[in-house]
Amino acid sequence: MLKQYSYAGLTATDIEQLVARNTDATHTIQDTVSQIINDVRQRGDQSLQEFALKFDKVKLEKLYLEREDIEALAATITRDQQRALEIAFQNIHKFHSSQLRKERVVETMPGVACWREVRPIEKVGLYIPGGSAVLPSTLLMLGVPARIAGCKEIVVCSPPQHTGKINGFVAYCLQLLKIEKIYLVGGAQAIAAMAYGTKSVPKVDKIFGPGNQFVTKAKSMIQSMVNVSIDMPAGPSEVLVVADHTAQPAFVAADLLAQAEHGPDSQAVLVATSATIIKQVNAELKKQLEVLPRAEIATMAIQNSYAVEVADLHEALDFSNQYAPEHLILETDEWKNLLPRITNAGSVFLGHLTPESAGDYASGTNHTLPTSGYARSYSGVSVDSFVKKITFQHISPDGLRHIGSTVETLAELEGLHAHKNAISIRK
Ligand code: NAD
Repeated sequence: MLKQYSYAGLTATDIEQLVARNTDATHTIQDTVSQIINDVRQRGDQSLQEFALKFDKVKLEKLYLEREDIEALAATITRDQQRALEIAFQNIHKFHSSQLRKERVVETMPGVACWREVRPIEKVGLYIPGGSAVLPSTLLMLGVPARIAGCKEIVVCSPPQHTGKINGFVAYCLQLLKIEKIYLVGGAQAIAAMAYGTKSVPKVDKIFGPGNQFVTKAKSMIQSMVNVSIDMPAGPSEVLVVADHTAQPAFVAADLLAQAEHGPDSQAVLVATSATIIKQVNAELKKQLEVLPRAEIATMAIQNSYAVEVADLHEALDFSNQYAPEHLILETDEWKNLLPRITNAGSVFLGHLTPESAGDYASGTNHTLPTSGYARSYSGVSVDSFVKKITFQHISPDGLRHIGSTVETLAELEGLHAHKNAISIRK
């Protein structure tokens, strides 16, 4: 069950080690990914077909599916399942639509007007994980804000299933998003294909989406190799649950396991205000694991996880802010009072009835979030991730009179006389 630490007994170095994750200290992942990227760059589609055979165990005739295939696959799911995906789509759409706001024009001096306007990124690439579990929800989380932003070209890559296709749920989400093609490419090779372009897969300007360590490493490496940007490092998923005496051990255990079942490299951390809570949660974990279909994966992730006993909720938040979790769940009646103390987290779930699963699928917030401590500096995906904000300015004759001499003086003190002249010549 969960390894246990006492916060009071931890040194700064212990904490540093505890909060470090997915560090790839031996560079094994980096070396593998580097070879994959080079291979895709040199051999394009041929390389993608060989990697599909090697990693996904499927021989592909062509590297994509088009409208008719997508329609046929989408028709295989039940009406109830379609309805659930539609509700998730609507809630995600509703929440994200509020993020597009027009900014006002600011007159910094009389006659000097400055403002910003939003423009969509034209070509975006969405990676939809599909190794250990297929995640149609991720397609909604990325596709909806891309559509709201108005991106012209949306390229979607996902590993092929053993049938050489995608599943019906992903197909139905493609239909909801009005996307008519999907590329059957997974892992680091998908990131390389979207970054460089191949005969089949178009090159994009920005790559989005979560994935395993190979995908995440490829995303972080590719930005320095070719002219492409990424949303953020969104690697193996993690949750940190803060629990006090008001928490229900069964709920806490369920939330930890919901994270653990993602993959063996997922992490589920419990920060509790007493050893008794940790003991009760451990007992619940054991009970719930016995009936979990993905128990094998979840058990490995739990072995890679731990619990920290703290003196009070303030200490709990101190640890949590150092960990900077992708998901933070506050299972305490005191959640409202704790909000101002949260400084680092991707997405936060408040109270006893707000499980992370709600945000993973359908409440409306985005589930593509920074992992491995990157919540210290990155936000999760939103409509902002799919746009650029361009600044504009206009200077009137009155404005030139007001700002002219200031610019001339500053240009002169930097020794840039052509800059000064661009003002003087207009006066
Ligand atoms: P995936 O699609 O990320 O990876 C599958 C691909 O990995 C395969 O197609 C293969 O090409 C490649 N691969 C597998 N083994 C390899 C090897 N030994 N060498 C090189 N490449 C290899 O799917 P997954 O593996 O199920 O991982 C999904 C991940 O996404 C999980 O870790 C989950 O926690 C994470 N996730 C994160 C977020 C987030 O917002 N951070 C959200 C959802 C999921």
